[in-house]
Amino acid sequence: MQAMTTQTERPVTGVVEATRTLEGGGFPVRRPFPTAQLSHVDPFLLIDEMGPVEWPPGGAIGAPDHPHRGFETVTYVLRGRNEHKDSHGHQGVLNPGDVQWMTAGAGVVHSEMPEAEFLRSGGLSHGFQIWVNLPARDKMMTPRYQELPAARIPEARSEDGRVHVRVIAGEALGVHAVTETRTPIMLLHFTLQPGGSILQPVPPEHNAMAYVFSGEARLGAEGVPAPEGALGMFGVGDAVRLTVAPDAAGPAELLLLTGVPLNEPVARYGPFVMNTRQEIIDAFRDYEAGRFGTISPEVL
Ligand code: FE
Repeated sequence: MQAMTTQTERPVTGVVEATRTLEGGGFPVRRPFPTAQLSHVDPFLLIDEMGPVEWPPGGAIGAPDHPHRGFETVTYVLRGRNEHKDSHGHQGVLNPGDVQWMTAGAGVVHSEMPEAEFLRSGGLSHGFQIWVNLPARDKMMTPRYQELPAARIPEARSEDGRVHVRVIAGEALGVHAVTETRTPIMLLHFTLQPGGSILQPVPPEHNAMAYVFSGEARLGAEGVPAPEGALGMFGVGDAVRLTVAPDAAGPAELLLLTGVPLNEPVARYGPFVMNTRQEIIDAFRDYEAGRFGTISPEVL
């Protein structure tokens, strides 16, 4: 007989429900964390599900000029179109399926707004913004962007066709993301049809969680129900089980987020995430002094 590698399925250690709030200029988000109960899940600092919201013509709201320092913002557009501009002269439009992985590092000022034509016409807007912490050694690195148009995000499907994945970071179903992360991270968008099931390997040193944003998934070997808006946290092991009941009304969609914890102090205030209170004060001082730059009007 051939030796088999056995995988230890991670148990579900808790399920939290996302809170609803307004972000940026006042657009609705569903936010599993940070909340009063859960500040962060190392190395992830924030998960915002933006919308889904149906904007009337001229009504879409974005996030006007604001700074970031000390971490990465990952924007994933599902519906609608967003336009991005920053203080380093960088700009771009994100269409459905696109990801922008921005490493703010030492600091950027940027705006994240509805794209002009989308703003005019209105329509359905849905997506994610996720904040990934940087280790202390990278917090003041030169800002960088990884633009990942939908075509560059590898996809895979299980043999039975019931599980589909878009691999934004990491690896699943034999395909690898092109994204470079500063520390080991996986960000996987799974769509599971009724009766679909996958045992996704997750290295034992990673923290792991699944955020369900459509339908109802079952998490772990015990099949803990996770409806839309639920964040399930996984315990120790080297694989996570994701399923959708055969009699479910429809497919479920979720993000699986995993990463090696930094285990460093987190000092955060608004758009700055550093290791100490003094570094936050320095960030405010540098921003106020204009050291992050400003968005140049000729970039328009
Ligand atoms: Fe931002």
